[in-house]
Amino acid sequence: MLTHIVYRPTSAGTLSLMEQGQICRLLGAKTLQPGLLEVSAQGKTPYVGESLLFPLKGAKQLSFSGTVLEVTAQIQPENSWLAKVQVPVFESVQIRNAQVSCDSCGSPMQVEFVCEENADVSAALLHALQHSGWRANLALQVCPICARKEA
Ligand SMILES: [Zn+2]
Repeated sequence: MLTHIVYRPTSAGTLSLMEQGQICRLLGAKTLQPGLLEVSAQGKTPYVGESLLFPLKGAKQLSFSGTVLEVTAQIQPENSWLAKVQVPVFESVQIRNAQVSCDSCGSPMQVEFVCEENADVSAALLHALQHSGWRANLALQVCPICARKEA
């Protein structure tokens, strides 16, 4: 489940094609069945098998990914397409915030992360830090800026 969470923002009303590095305008999305979305969007057409990034509802810094199962071009509006996308089923995921101070420069940062119900909150936070460029373990947390300087 958490493997579908991506620690970077996607603007509301857009989606991004991960492999092609393109951003599309989201025209509509409806759930066909749990875990299966029908998405229409305007912009570059994704490949079958490509990962798409969507904004995660209620989150500012997080997105979730889905995989394109099939895609067809649409005539109207121009450059639009319709795709069936396999997406994670979010039932027990909570969005949380934590204030983390860098052990190297001391600057505090607000970190948004997801935690499944009954999961270990510190483990979920560490996972988020590691996927957002921090060098982090339970004993030491170094922010992305310091981590890059030390590398
Ligand atoms: Zn730092």
